[in-house]
Amino acid sequence: MTDKQPRCLNFELHAAEMRRQAITVSASWFLWVNILFSLFILGRNYFSPEHLVAVLHHPLHVLESAMVLVLAASSSVLFILRMAPDREAIWLSQLAKGTVLFLSLTWAISFYVFIASGDMRVIFPLAGLLLFTALISLYFDARVLLTFIVPIWLSILVSAFVYDQSPTALNAVLWLLLAALLESGRRMLNSWFLLALRRGQEKRDLIKQLETLASYDPLTGIANRRNFQQQLDNAIHEASQTGGELAMIMVDVDHFKRFNDHYGHQAGDICLKEVANQLKSAVRKRGDSVARLGGEEFAILLPGGGSEAAHRVARRLAWRLENLAIKHAASPVSQHVTVSQGISVWKPDMSGTVFIAQADAALYQAKESGRNRWNEYDVARDKD
Ligand code: GH3
Ligand code: MG
Ligand code: MG
Repeated sequence: MTDKQPRCLNFELHAAEMRRQAITVSASWFLWVNILFSLFILGRNYFSPEHLVAVLHHPLHVLESAMVLVLAASSSVLFILRMAPDREAIWLSQLAKGTVLFLSLTWAISFYVFIASGDMRVIFPLAGLLLFTALISLYFDARVLLTFIVPIWLSILVSAFVYDQSPTALNAVLWLLLAALLESGRRMLNSWFLLALRRGQEKRDLIKQLETLASYDPLTGIANRRNFQQQLDNAIHEASQTGGELAMIMVDVDHFKRFNDHYGHQAGDICLKEVANQLKSAVRKRGDSVARLGGEEFAILLPGGGSEAAHRVARRLAWRLENLAIKHAASPVSQHVTVSQGISVWKPDMSGTVFIAQADAALYQAKESGRNRWNEYDVARDKD
């Protein structure tokens, strides 16, 4: 499978989901038009006394019943759409699709009866408007649109040929033209729909890429300072709410400038990547995170962990680096790359700035006392 296929599949799935959601949005307008049209046909009979008399003796009562059904179905589904708590629910779109089919069959019967009764005047404008209304509301889903159009279109075509005394070639051409107009209109509108979806997808992809660029360090692939600051704020908020523990370790590679000077900048980059890998594998709990703060400085955040957990992680990191034994011939503290670590344990009401400053001070003390070691912040020692 190529890289492109899963993306296409994703797009298809997304388009199908958007089609499903779109139907519950545009169905409202479509149902309103159905209500107005059925009211028009019902009212038309009541305002014309001769028609009303004819209704009693003629199969037009089928038409009236059909219009009452259209009215009842459209208004109740409209009501359900308005009141539904979740407009994106699957059952709602299925209800809308079912209603489209029901309305189509009812209109198909009505138009047949209409033509059978010899009343051809309103058929063409009414049917034409109704079919174009369906096109505008349902263009994004060819299957649903055809479900509505085909029965009506066929019913009018058949009844016109059966009952119209003078079926002309012009009539047939007109109906074929209407079908061609509907299909070309559907294709044009659908291409805009797909274009809008594609643009949306591109925008989402771009935002994802930007978020990754803004949150991760490109060299090591771990979180950057900005991301770390966010995680720190969240962890402090969480610890304040739950009364849980929180600890941090500030990590600095010892004599890294000398490493660069001795082995070159490229080797320095590889070394930093390796140190980042060791940081990742030194933390064990879910929720623990590591970040590169800049240069050869890293940080480890241990939500739910206190002093003991921090010492354990610091020991593990030192041990892993010792085992990895990246050569550092220019270091006065060891033959291999080592790190100094400063531990800070969060106390209730401590701000993020103070929390970081304490880890920094502990790191400074670790450096001062010989590097290649870890040290927890000690208030008493800091005051001296
Ligand atoms: P200390 O033991 O006191 O921490 O000394 P140090 O040499 O590790 O610290 P210093 O701050 O003097 O030097 C840090 C060096 O890290 C200087 C800089 O060239 C190097 N550095 C910073 N970012 C990168 C990077 O992305 N790649 C490489 N290869 N080197 C980097
Ligand atoms: Mg440094
Ligand atoms: Mg350093």
